[in-house]
Amino acid sequence: KLAQHRDVCLCLFDVMLPGIDGFEVCRRVRATNPHIGIIMLTARSQEMDKVTGLISGKISLRYNNIRRFTMKPVYNRILLKLSGEVLAGTLGHGIDFDTVQEICSVVKTVADMGVQVGIVVGGGNFWRGRSSGKMDRTRADNMGMLATAINSLALQEALIQTGNDAVVMSALDIQRMVESFNKDKAVKYMQNGQVVIFSCGTGSPFFSTDSGAAL
Ligand code: UDP
Repeated sequence: KLAQHRDVCLCLFDVMLPGIDGFEVCRRVRATNPHIGIIMLTARSQEMDKVTGLISGKISLRYNNIRRFTMKPVYNRILLKLSGEVLAGTLGHGIDFDTVQEICSVVKTVADMGVQVGIVVGGGNFWRGRSSGKMDRTRADNMGMLATAINSLALQEALIQTGNDAVVMSALDIQRMVESFNKDKAVKYMQNGQVVIFSCGTGSPFFSTDSGAAL
């Protein structure tokens, strides 16, 4: 009844209710008011509880301890492949640092959940070897790989500014700027909560950063 009232914009209730379960209440509230916010408090944290809750229309499921989300990360470690073009934002070319910061704030949210994050970034916002026309393909691809290094440094800067330590590793040796790739070190950095940005794809021409991400 309360939820039907126009001034109510948020419902907060338990799943375990006398005579009716909270999911059913949620369904009924949602049916009468599609815009109302619904938060359920519950100790039930099974995957199916979350699914049932979401289907019935709640916006979030929380423990009785309100500060803790029950949503646990599904993966301990993720690899995010970013195409170079996304870093250009509305500029369409090069780097729009506001966009890079926006992306990095999402990455930080994920890292703050305890998820280890690796990023493979492309270079298409600057250069793609295969679009180089008459150029020698190997030289053109080397240019493309350097473009990924530029993007990696932008991501590193944005992550550090966002408050998440980040390391750039490269498949090509450009050690005065970034570390050379080393699998054990990369794992250690990620376990330490540092985001590892993998630049220069596979380090070989005639490949793409997608191949690097797959490797
Ligand atoms: N590249 C390469 N070897 C690799 C990865 C990349 O030669 O292992 C070069 C290639 O010229 C490619 C460019 O770097 O076109 C940029 O990478 P990609 O095209 O994958 O960038 P994205 O499309 O993801 O922005």
